[in-house]
Amino acid sequence: MSTDIVHLDQFREENIALNIFNAIRREDSNTVSASEIFAALEANGVDRRDRRIRKTVERLSAYESGERLDFNAFHEALSKENATLIHRSLSGDLIIPDFAEFRHRMINIFEYCREFTGGEVAGYIPQLARVDPELYALGVCSVDGQQFSHGDDDETYCVQSTCKPINYAIALDLVGQQTVHSHVGREPSGRSFNELTLNGKGLPHNPMINAGAIMCASLIKPHQPLADRFDYIMSVWRALAGGRKTGFDNSVYLSEKATADRNFALAYFMRENNAFPPDTNIIDTLDFYFQCCSITLDARQMAVIAASLANGGVCPLTNRRVFQTETVKNCLSLMYSCGMYDFSGEYAFTVGIPAKSGVSGALMMVVPGVCGVALWSPRLDALGNSVRGVEFSRRLVDVFAFHTYANMTDDYRLIDPRQSEIERHADASVHLCAAAARGDLGEIRRLSANGVDPGMADYDGRTALHLAACEGRASVVAYLLDRCSQIMPRDRWGNTPLDDARREGREEIVAIMERRLAQDHAQAEATDPAQNAGELG
Ligand code: GLU
Repeated sequence: MSTDIVHLDQFREENIALNIFNAIRREDSNTVSASEIFAALEANGVDRRDRRIRKTVERLSAYESGERLDFNAFHEALSKENATLIHRSLSGDLIIPDFAEFRHRMINIFEYCREFTGGEVAGYIPQLARVDPELYALGVCSVDGQQFSHGDDDETYCVQSTCKPINYAIALDLVGQQTVHSHVGREPSGRSFNELTLNGKGLPHNPMINAGAIMCASLIKPHQPLADRFDYIMSVWRALAGGRKTGFDNSVYLSEKATADRNFALAYFMRENNAFPPDTNIIDTLDFYFQCCSITLDARQMAVIAASLANGGVCPLTNRRVFQTETVKNCLSLMYSCGMYDFSGEYAFTVGIPAKSGVSGALMMVVPGVCGVALWSPRLDALGNSVRGVEFSRRLVDVFAFHTYANMTDDYRLIDPRQSEIERHADASVHLCAAAARGDLGEIRRLSANGVDPGMADYDGRTALHLAACEGRASVVAYLLDRCSQIMPRDRWGNTPLDDARREGREEIVAIMERRLAQDHAQAEATDPAQNAGELG
């Protein structure tokens, strides 16, 4: 590496640190405290328990007794590995740019739904019937690992049927789609989750109902001892949850096993129809399935798991791939069509996101490419879904354009349809500028397909072109130059995108823009040489 590059890297790194420092410190102070740093990060969804900033947290803990940090101490405490993450979070450059506002709206929906106290806790598994019906928790994790949780988020609960999509995904990754679907269908059953019924081929209808989930359990390392099979799935849950270990509720397991006549009946019915792979031990398979349903976690962990699915199988907290993308695609498709028991069609229609509920009152929602949401409230409606969970889902898509097909209407992602025009404009420009700064051409295309003017300016007159120029996003600049009516808008300080590109040393962008200006000039001259003479400069 040449010394120039080393210097440039050092310069950039120091610059990033300075930006972060300035964003955190109060205007009247030249120092920051450890708690101000943690508070600023937390407001942006980066929690001090987040392993990605572990080193920084370790270094900062020395200052927690009260000593404040000047810039040098701060720069030292900030580890190189996570400076970019911290910087992106504080500059609104993560997938949920205004996390504080997002959290505020989510909590409003959550608290509003607390009033829904109808329904009953599941009675058919005695241990579940004893759970406090008032418990209520929310967890959220974005695909960039921004997290928050609320309510009874320290309480753990049983995953129950929310293990079904995970077991399905594990089976797909282990034995492949063809083998899995030679034993289980992929059509909604239109029947209750534990009904004694198979499809026309004598197979369970899909992996999201009991028969299909028992079948998927039979496909997971069937020739290994049960203890190893359990260890294996626990390792997958842990990886999906970003390294935090999930638990196990032995009394639920025993209680479930002791009252499982219907699940035994389903397994024998499937064996009678030759649905299982040859040599399947159905007693072991059922045991394994009951164990999977008895895994426990809290809403925070479940949100990270849902976010790993939203992120195409890569855990956002560790960047570790847990499932193949194809597996996640298949899994989300079936969650979308079959994840909410007999309410699946209605849920897909009105809420429009892949989700899975369980009789413990668990609900896991996946907003692909954005976030995972976990809600837990034990009272169930007649169809077996959490009453508050369903109400929460309905309002969630009222407030945020999370419905899979919402982008075909005039909403933009994360925009409250009840906002005033001014707020809408502000939100749209924030999204547009943030997408331009991170070089997300797909998002810019989507916004402009939804009617957002790619040339719109924010309060300071900054446009997507300014941001893309500053950050050196060549393809975004090229796209915007073709679509904006004004290619050299001035911000409130009088700077054009070309000025920004020059100032930031973005030579490629400067070249693109100068070429474009020269072309425009030549064209203008060809049409009216007299009027345009001498304008380029
Ligand atoms: N362990 C439950 C059963 O097999 C799961 C049911 C559910 O959550 O849908 O009956």
